[in-house]
Amino acid sequence: MGSLQRLPLALAPPAPWASDALPFASPDQLDPDLQELLDSASRMLCQWLGSAASRAPLPALGLTPAVAPSVQGLGGDVLLAELQQVMEGAYNPNHPGALAHLDPPPLPASIAAEMVCAGLNNNLLAEELSPSLTRLERSLCAWLAEAIGLPAGSGGVPASGGTLSNLTALVVARQHQGLQGRSDAVVLASSDAHVSLDKALMVMGLPATALRRLPVDPAGRLQSDALADELDRCRLQGVPVLAVVATAGTTVCGAVDPLASIAGLCRSHGAWLHVDGAIGAVYALDPGHAQRVQGLGLADSVTVNPQKLLGITKTSSLLLLAQPQLLAEVFATGLPYMEASWGGSHGGECGLQGTRPAEALKLWLGLRQLGQEGIRAVLDGAIERTATVMDLLRPLQGLALRGGDLHLLAMTPLGLSAGQADHWSQATRQQLLAAQLMLSRPLYQGRHHLKAVLGNPHTRPAQLEQLAAIVASSLTAKP
Ligand SMILES: *Cc1c(COP(=O)(O)O)cnc(C)c1O
Repeated sequence: MGSLQRLPLALAPPAPWASDALPFASPDQLDPDLQELLDSASRMLCQWLGSAASRAPLPALGLTPAVAPSVQGLGGDVLLAELQQVMEGAYNPNHPGALAHLDPPPLPASIAAEMVCAGLNNNLLAEELSPSLTRLERSLCAWLAEAIGLPAGSGGVPASGGTLSNLTALVVARQHQGLQGRSDAVVLASSDAHVSLDKALMVMGLPATALRRLPVDPAGRLQSDALADELDRCRLQGVPVLAVVATAGTTVCGAVDPLASIAGLCRSHGAWLHVDGAIGAVYALDPGHAQRVQGLGLADSVTVNPQKLLGITKTSSLLLLAQPQLLAEVFATGLPYMEASWGGSHGGECGLQGTRPAEALKLWLGLRQLGQEGIRAVLDGAIERTATVMDLLRPLQGLALRGGDLHLLAMTPLGLSAGQADHWSQATRQQLLAAQLMLSRPLYQGRHHLKAVLGNPHTRPAQLEQLAAIVASSLTAKP
C-alpha cells in the first residue's frame, strides 16, 4: 500500500477509460461524489414519500425526460433533476387513498435494503458471487416456509413476481408427476384463479384448454364438490392431472378456496397441490390470522408475495415447497463455470432465473423491522378496514358486495345491464378520484365492479366513510 502511494503521479490527465475519469465509486476511500448523490437521492425520496398525501394517488401524465445518453455524461445535479421529473409522474402508493391495487406503501427497512442490495451488486446465481446472501436467502426461505405451516425441511426460492413463482411451481409439479411430454395433462383451478396460470401453461407448451376452470360459490371460492367430480372424471377418462391450483386470496374478491378439503382430495387422488397464496399466504404468519388460510401447510407448493400486503419493495415473491430439493432436481443443469456450492444448490440451479438480485435482503430486513407485532398489526389493520367498509356498504340497497375473506372487496349495483355497470363504474371511479380515493374497475363475471384493496396502513376511517358516501350517492344517481 505505502509503496504504491509513493510512486510518482502521472502528469498527463487520466485516460478517458481510467476509473478516475469515470463515475464509479472509489475503491480506496469514501467517495464524496457517491455519498452526495446517495444523500441527495435519499432526501428527494424521503421528500416524495413525505408529501404523498398532498398529491393525487394517480398523477396526471407529465413530461418524460430525454432517454438517450448525451455525448458527455451528466453530473449529479442534472441526474437528480431528471429523476425528480420521473418521480412527479409516478403512481403514489404512500397516499392514504391509494386503494386500487395490491401495491402498498413501501416499508422503510426494505427501501434501505434495496439500496444496499444494489450497492453490493451480488448475484444469487452462484454462491461465490453472493456468499452471505445465498445463505441468508436459503435460511429465510426455510424459515418462511415453516412459518406459513409447511412441514420441517421445507424451503424454496425467490422469483421475480408471483407469475414466475406459479410457473416454477407448475414446472416442478409436472416433473414430479412424471408428466413431461404429456400434451394431454391438465391443471385444475377455479374460474377466479389468476391469469398467470394461463401464461404458465402457454410457456409450458400446453394448450389453453389444459387449464380447466371450475365453478366458484357466491363468495368466489372453488367448490370442492366440483373439484371432486372433475378429479373422478379425469381418473375415469385417464386424463393426467398435472396439478390442482387452489387460490388463497383471489384477485378480485380476496376469496380463499377451501384449502383443507382440497388438500384431502389431492391426497386421495395423488395430485400435486399448489396454492397460489400471492395475496393471502402472509396471513399464515400470524397465529391470530392463520385460520383465514387454514390448510395452507398441506400444500406441496405455495406462492407467497410479500410485496402485496407487507410492503416489501417490488419484486418480492417466493415459491415455497414441502420438498425444496425438487427445485434443483428439475432445474439444475450444472454450472461448469462456477465453483461448487458450499451447501445446497446454487441459486441459479433452483429456478428459471439465472442472475438474480438479493431480493431476500429487503424481505429479511423488512420483516425484522416489523417484528411479529408489526406483522400482526398490518394484518389486523387490513382486516379491520375491510370490515369497516363492509359495515358501511352492507345497508345500501341495491349494491352487490363481494369479498370479505381477506382485505379485498368488490361491488357493483344490482339490476344494471353490463353496459350500465360499465358506465356506473367509470363515473363512480371518477368521483372517487376527485376525492383522492383510487379504486380499480375489474371486469368480474361479465360486469364491471369497483374494487377496494384495504391493505394501505395510512387509510383512515374518514376516507372509508367518504368512499361509502360516494358509492351511496352513485346508487341514487343510477343511470
Ligand atoms: C398478483 C397475483 C399473482 C401474480 O403476481 P405478480 O407478482 O404480479 O406476477 C398471482 N396470483 C395472484 C392470486 C395474484 O393476486
